[in-house]
Amino acid sequence: MKILITAGPTREPLDPVRFLSNRSSGRMGYALAKAFALRKEHVLLISGPTTLPIPDHVDFIPVESAQEMYDVVAHHLNQMDVAIFCAAVADYTPTTVADQKIKKSEDTITITLKKTPDILGSARSLMNFTGYLVGFAAETENLEANARRKLETKHCDMIIANDVSQAGIGFDSNDNEVLIVEAAENTALPRDSKEHLSRHIAEIIMQRFRQKNEASDSQTQLS
Ligand code: C5P
Repeated sequence: MKILITAGPTREPLDPVRFLSNRSSGRMGYALAKAFALRKEHVLLISGPTTLPIPDHVDFIPVESAQEMYDVVAHHLNQMDVAIFCAAVADYTPTTVADQKIKKSEDTITITLKKTPDILGSARSLMNFTGYLVGFAAETENLEANARRKLETKHCDMIIANDVSQAGIGFDSNDNEVLIVEAAENTALPRDSKEHLSRHIAEIIMQRFRQKNEASDSQTQLS
């Protein structure tokens, strides 16, 4: 089975030495990559900058900006059986990147931002991905409702949601606590290390992937 995982933050450049980014450590995506590699699955990890070691037996492509991540995903996605979008992709990027370091002259400066491409949102439509699609949702309120809306609008098979308003879990922490939202059911996985949670999540994804394939095989035989 071939699995693509995006992880980490993106860096949106302002000038040759500055960028906009976020606090994502990449731990969840790397832990998932490791969990699937331990199961002897073929993993392609596409990651923004992190300080984490690359897990053993994983193919790795480093990227920086959201656009770069989009281009690398678009290039590889259709060879994959499963895609898990764990990266904390910047939602906005500066409209222009200065050629030279921006000088300190004015008291205030204005930076105009434009939306980045929605990689997960493009997987089914623009990239025509037909495999098993998993997205993440970091929410501060209405966890289930927001995750379910994402499941439907982005045509995912599963959304893994976590409440980022709780201290000690989610962004830049070792632990997480997630709600797995699928069309037919929700599964709550209580607080645990990202490493343990990832093994559990990997097991559930493998199971669902097999079920989906068996269902579509029997559909083909019937028609
Ligand atoms: O809509 P929202 O950004 O909250 O969705 C989060 C999910 O979408 C995550 O799986 C994240 O990796 C993915 N995403 C993406 N490209 C973006 C923004 C988010 O793939 N530009």
